[in-house]
Amino acid sequence: MKRSVLACLTAVFMCLTACSNQSQQEEKKESFFAMNTYITFTAYGDNVESVLSQAKDKFTALEQLWSVTDEHSEIYAVNHAGGQPVTVSNDTAEILAFALEMADKTNGALEPTIYPVLTAWGFTAEENRIPSNDEIKGLLNQIGYDKVVLNENAVQLPEGMMLDLGAVGKGYAGDIITELLKEHGITSALLDIGGNIQAVGTKPDGSDWRLGIRDPFGEGNVGVLTVQDMAVVTSGSYERYFVGEDGKQHGHIINPSTGYPAESGLASVTVIAKEGKLCDALSTSLFVMGLDRAADYWRQNGGFDMLLITEKGEIYLTEGIKDRFFPDSYHTDMKVHVIAYEE
Ligand code: AMP
Ligand code: MG
Repeated sequence: MKRSVLACLTAVFMCLTACSNQSQQEEKKESFFAMNTYITFTAYGDNVESVLSQAKDKFTALEQLWSVTDEHSEIYAVNHAGGQPVTVSNDTAEILAFALEMADKTNGALEPTIYPVLTAWGFTAEENRIPSNDEIKGLLNQIGYDKVVLNENAVQLPEGMMLDLGAVGKGYAGDIITELLKEHGITSALLDIGGNIQAVGTKPDGSDWRLGIRDPFGEGNVGVLTVQDMAVVTSGSYERYFVGEDGKQHGHIINPSTGYPAESGLASVTVIAKEGKLCDALSTSLFVMGLDRAADYWRQNGGFDMLLITEKGEIYLTEGIKDRFFPDSYHTDMKVHVIAYEE
């Protein structure tokens, strides 16, 4: 009974967030698969089809630049240059500069050269495995964002090192698409990039977007966040993990200081900010940091809000969104704590 009520409410909620029934503006969608995820761009207004189609082309073009596996991508060329410099496009140079800056700001919790360790855990292939301690130790010598040389558009990596922009690419691309839609006069759109949401403007009727925050422990949402013109990006090990021979769950977000999947006591991290790239970089790195370090980072740096769900099933959200988050009491009775500006 409770489940059917929930299903009903979810359907109503999805309609509220994505439909424009109460508005005269036409809704158009563009759905496709890219960057290893399902993507839907929804935009409202007259003649938005051609803009959405341009947006899809641009997104796909960015994927072709940044893919680690596509032999024709710029990142592939950098990763296989045997220590030589490679000239890349402005889009690639800019995202790389941003990733390196965030790696520095997060003290290496974001580590854009983590790829060899990810590969050892099998996250880049079909089959996952648990590498030995020695293998991990050896691979950690190949990791280090501070060894990446970026000189205008020339990128140089020491031989054996590899870049992976997987933790920032979707958010960065989302910003570029948001810009493109706005340049074409679109004032109401929702970009769903594998669950990373970028809300452009308001809903067509001028009201807030109502976005569900996923329950990392099961189906449904833990609550709803209301936003306007914001990105909302979630990272969590529940998104991708395997159960090893040791019977443990191993998630796809690696703690770069150990080479092991991050076990920071968090189940998911959602970051809310104007820019998707900041949200994406931070959701991954704050997940690695855990609750206390994430709260310190927020107090020291600001410029974003966050909602953390702990493995124990409690919600911590920053003061800036405390009046914008509405817990779903039908679905979960998770305790909500507010992280204050002053400790
Ligand atoms: P996200 O879904 O944005 O949290 O990004 C997770 C992806 O980033 C993983 O699937 C890896 O490809 C990559 N990754 C894992 N751990 C890290 C890390 N500590 N720093 C940067 N990228 C990472
Ligand atoms: Mg990320």
